[in-house]
Amino acid sequence: MAKAEVLCIGTELLLGDVLDTNSQYLAQQLALLGLNCFYRVTVGDNVGRILDCIVTALRRSDILITSGGLGPTADDLTTECLAQVFNAPLETDQQVLAFIESLFAARNIKMPKTNAKQALRPRGADILPNPVGTAPGMIWRLGPEELALIGIEADQSGQWPVKTILTFPGVPRELKGMWEETARGYLEKTYAGGTIWSTELKHYGIGESALAEKFAHLLDLANPSVAPYAGNWECRLRVAAKANSVVEAQALAQPVIDEIKAGSGVTCYGHDGDTLESVVGELLSAQRLTIALAESCTGGLISERLTGIPGSSRYIMLNAVTYSAEAKQKLLGVSAELLAAHGAVSPECAKAMAEGIRAVSGCDIGLSVTGIAGPDGGSEEKPVGLVYLGLSVGQKTGEPLYFARTLRLGKRLGRNEIRWRTAQEALNMVRLYLISPEHLSV
Ligand code: AMP
Ligand code: MG
Repeated sequence: MAKAEVLCIGTELLLGDVLDTNSQYLAQQLALLGLNCFYRVTVGDNVGRILDCIVTALRRSDILITSGGLGPTADDLTTECLAQVFNAPLETDQQVLAFIESLFAARNIKMPKTNAKQALRPRGADILPNPVGTAPGMIWRLGPEELALIGIEADQSGQWPVKTILTFPGVPRELKGMWEETARGYLEKTYAGGTIWSTELKHYGIGESALAEKFAHLLDLANPSVAPYAGNWECRLRVAAKANSVVEAQALAQPVIDEIKAGSGVTCYGHDGDTLESVVGELLSAQRLTIALAESCTGGLISERLTGIPGSSRYIMLNAVTYSAEAKQKLLGVSAELLAAHGAVSPECAKAMAEGIRAVSGCDIGLSVTGIAGPDGGSEEKPVGLVYLGLSVGQKTGEPLYFARTLRLGKRLGRNEIRWRTAQEALNMVRLYLISPEHLSV
């Protein structure tokens, strides 16, 4: 399986001014082609270091993909550096030059001299057309002479390795256009090596290390491979398989996916694009149940996440952000006596809020949260990070069901994390109830 290396060139990337999204895109694309990507390197606009990265990459990889440094200015060095590595003269491509000139002419602007630089190409390299921007990149399949210059030799039977350089501009839209139109097809044809298919199994309610421990016997597998990742108060197990086709790769991965799902029970809430809110939405839709929310410390975050799911108007009836004690009384019917006796951040208040919002909305389910997100407002008895959640569910006959949760998240997390974590827990409570109330009764 051929090895590709991504080299992003640009000082702005090293400074953190521009986020390197090209590497992410290229890595995903390479996986789809079944090409290994063992190294992704970022280097600034500096000749010595760029030369170093080019030589290192070509010695250890079959394909070098560069992004950036193709512009007209003095700090755009990619083409020049490649020519220098292989002692290749830079030649002006007359067709490219005419095209760039025509772009300026169409806008009635005289082409600055510096733009002529974008028509330069080392002898031996082909054009990688750019359907959306000014200048093209190059596809350069290295010959024996060039390979010898960087210390690469033919094998015992006299065969030279197939090494190719592809250069792209840094502008993501141009890079994608060039990839889709030309580069992908070229690599497929030249290095066809099957595909890498992967899926992520998402978990809530178990930590990354506990998850890794539980499935330790799978983490050493080579194909499919299994790896844990921590997320935003949830974690994921990625299952990846290499094969000649997507169907074959999926078939390889399936037994492992099944094993993980069976072994994790309700902590595995979905895969890939699924979120806790999308899963809750699906469950509510399927069971034809409606929900209303009364949020205090999350300030509408749970509502925002749930209403972000297309079709949520089918099951969400009312979302209230009842921040003040007064709002809790007026809108939800929480009694002044209860608030005086227990305070707004209390299990009693959470219960009254959940029941109140369910009664006001006429929904099947009422969900409430009340807590202290900090950084101020905590006390010894009720510290920052203390959150109460309540879930009230009406029954066709008999008393409504009620489920409570308490979170003690601590001050260290900070306001936003406390709110996010609370939203995760709230959504998960609804999810567990909808799968089976017994998951909440403990
Ligand atoms: P360049 O081709 O080096 O002139 O880059 C043109 C522009 O593309 C830069 O100003 C950046 O904003 C953007 N850019 C460069 N490299 C990347 C990258 N790896 N990911 C996303 N954007 C990039
Ligand atoms: Mg640049």
